[in-house]
Amino acid sequence: MTRTVVVTGAGSGIGRAIASTLAGREWRVVVTDLDGAAAADVAAALPNPDRGHESAQLDVTSAEAASAVASDVAGRLGLHAWVSNAGISFMHRFLEAPVERYQQTVDVNLKGVFVCGQAAAREMVRAGVAGSIVNTASMAGKQGRVPFLADYVASKFGVVGLTQAMAYELGEHRITVNCVCPGFVETPMQSRELEWEAQLRGTTTDGVRDMMIGDTPLGRLEQPEDVARAVAFLLSDDARFITGEALAVNGGAYMD
Ligand code: NAP
Repeated sequence: MTRTVVVTGAGSGIGRAIASTLAGREWRVVVTDLDGAAAADVAAALPNPDRGHESAQLDVTSAEAASAVASDVAGRLGLHAWVSNAGISFMHRFLEAPVERYQQTVDVNLKGVFVCGQAAAREMVRAGVAGSIVNTASMAGKQGRVPFLADYVASKFGVVGLTQAMAYELGEHRITVNCVCPGFVETPMQSRELEWEAQLRGTTTDGVRDMMIGDTPLGRLEQPEDVARAVAFLLSDDARFITGEALAVNGGAYMD
């Protein structure tokens, strides 16, 4: 039986790589993103198209929209896994950070994981599916020694805690919940951060990129596929007794 996974924020970057990696394994993928057209483009290019991959527009801050996608997929295809990957970032010095940005960051990065995880788990419990949920946290969810990202750090520490709480409560339904904690991943989000950080530090984007590589013992920028492979592992039977874990996938940039 083909199992179905929903991936959020999969129109770009890490989410796109997760969708592609899972489609290359045994999964049927429902690609979702705030940008419905980007999601459709990603879905159309996935490997194993005969599995009937799909796309949907989904703003993860809307509990109603998340429930609608989860129940539609569960009803038609069966919902076996959900990857809450959508996230945003802005860089400011803490002393200058506007509270509106804090709200936006926490809404997408943390509330989004909450409402999507709840919607997915409700459908899995209703159908008696021993499913899996993976959330994209960050190495900034484990250490606050990160420049200019206080609201982001707060949201990602929240994702690590929420992952544990979900894993604890959903264990009795045989649903596993884990998160991945990537490091310096080469995506559109990183390109935006390179510009902001270069400006805030008074250096160049190349200078910031070199700092990131210098902070990474494995000596290169992380690729979206590095994260996607770890997500595939957490969704696989090889990880069937792992739950509540925050898996570092960062080339050694932060070790805990
Ligand atoms: P990205 O390239 O900007 O992709 C993020 C995707 O999420 C975009 O397609 C974006 O759509 C979408 N999105 C934004 N707001 C959304 C919403 N409200 N509902 C649904 N989708 C939404 O960033 P990325 O680097 O791949 O990041 C993916 C995840 O990895 C995030 O959770 C991020 O925090 C985490 N992460 C990234 C890094 C890194 O170094 N890149 C490191 C650690 C963790 P639009 O483009 O239309 O806004």
